[in-house]
Amino acid sequence: MTRARYDDPWRINADLHCHSHISDGTLAPEVVAQRAADHGVQMWALTDHDEVGGLAVAKLVAEQAGLYFVPGVEVSVTWGGQTIHIVGLNINFEDPVLIDGLARTRGGREARARDMAEQLARVGIEGAYEGALRFVGNPALISRTHFARHLVESGVCEDVGQVFMRYLTEGKPGYIEHRWARLSDAVLWIRSAGGVAVIAHPGRYKLNDLALNALFDEFREAGGEAIEVVSGSHTKDQIGRFAQLARDYNFLGSRGSDFHGPNESHVELGQVVALPDRVVPVWSRWAEGHDATL
Ligand code: AMP
Ligand code: MN
Ligand code: MN
Ligand code: MN
Repeated sequence: MTRARYDDPWRINADLHCHSHISDGTLAPEVVAQRAADHGVQMWALTDHDEVGGLAVAKLVAEQAGLYFVPGVEVSVTWGGQTIHIVGLNINFEDPVLIDGLARTRGGREARARDMAEQLARVGIEGAYEGALRFVGNPALISRTHFARHLVESGVCEDVGQVFMRYLTEGKPGYIEHRWARLSDAVLWIRSAGGVAVIAHPGRYKLNDLALNALFDEFREAGGEAIEVVSGSHTKDQIGRFAQLARDYNFLGSRGSDFHGPNESHVELGQVVALPDRVVPVWSRWAEGHDATL
C-alpha cells in the first residue's frame, strides 16, 4: 500500500471506525464513504462487524471522493465472559485466513437470531426474526441492532437504547449468550492480513482495573498494537484515561466515531475530538510526514 504524506499526520481528520448496512449501520458503504468526505474526514476506515463485504465499493468511492481509504473490520470476540470488539486496520481484505475466520465468527448469528426471536415470543413479542430481517442489509449479518430497530418501528420501545436496556442485554428476555472468536485468533487473523489490531472502545467494557490490565496484557502478547483512545462512545475522562494507558502500554492510539447512521449515532463521521498529543496515532504506520516517528 502506498503511504500517505501529510504535513502533520497528528492533526489530520482520521475516522477509523464506522459501519455500513453490510453489518449494522443504516447506510450503504458508498453512501458512508461520501458522507465521510462531506464531513471533512481525510482518512477513513469502514469497519463493519465480522464482515469485509463492503470494503471494495467503499474503497472505490472513498478514493474518488479524495479520501485516504484504510480497509478495516470489527471482530466480535469473547474474552473473560464478555463481548470485546477488536478492530483490524489496514488489512488485506482478500486474505484467506482473515476471510475464513470472519466467516466462522459470523456463522452463529443466524441460529442466535432465531433463539432471540423465540425468547422474545415467550414474553409476547411475536415475529421478531422476520421483523428484524427487514432491517438487514446483509443476510449473513443479522445483529441485535436489527432487532432493536424492528422493536422501535413496531412500537414496543421508544428508541434503540431502550430496546437494549429492556430486552437485548444480559439477563433480559431477548438476550442469548453467544461465543464469538477468541482474542488471540482475532488478532492472528488481522495480523495475517497485514493489519494492525486495535481494541475498540475500551471504555465500554465492564472490566475493573485488574481485568482491563489483563485484557491489555493478553492483547499485547497476542500481537495487538493499538487501542481506541478517541471513540464516539468515550467521555472526555475516558479519553484522558485511555490516552495515559496507551502510553503506559506502548500502544498506538486510534480515533473513530463508531458511526452507525444519521438517526442513531450521537456522533457524526469525523466529528470526534482530536487524538491527544501525547499518543502516537495508529495511522503513523501508514501516513508519513515530518512528525511521524514510527
Ligand atoms: P451484536 O453484534 O449482534 O451483539 O450487536 C452489537 C451491536 O449492538 C453493537 O455493535 C452496537 O452497534 C449495538 N449496541 C450494543 N449495545 C447497545 C446499546 N446499549 N444501545 C444501542 N446499541 C447498542
Ligand atoms: Mn454495531
Ligand atoms: Mn463495537
Ligand atoms: Mn463499531
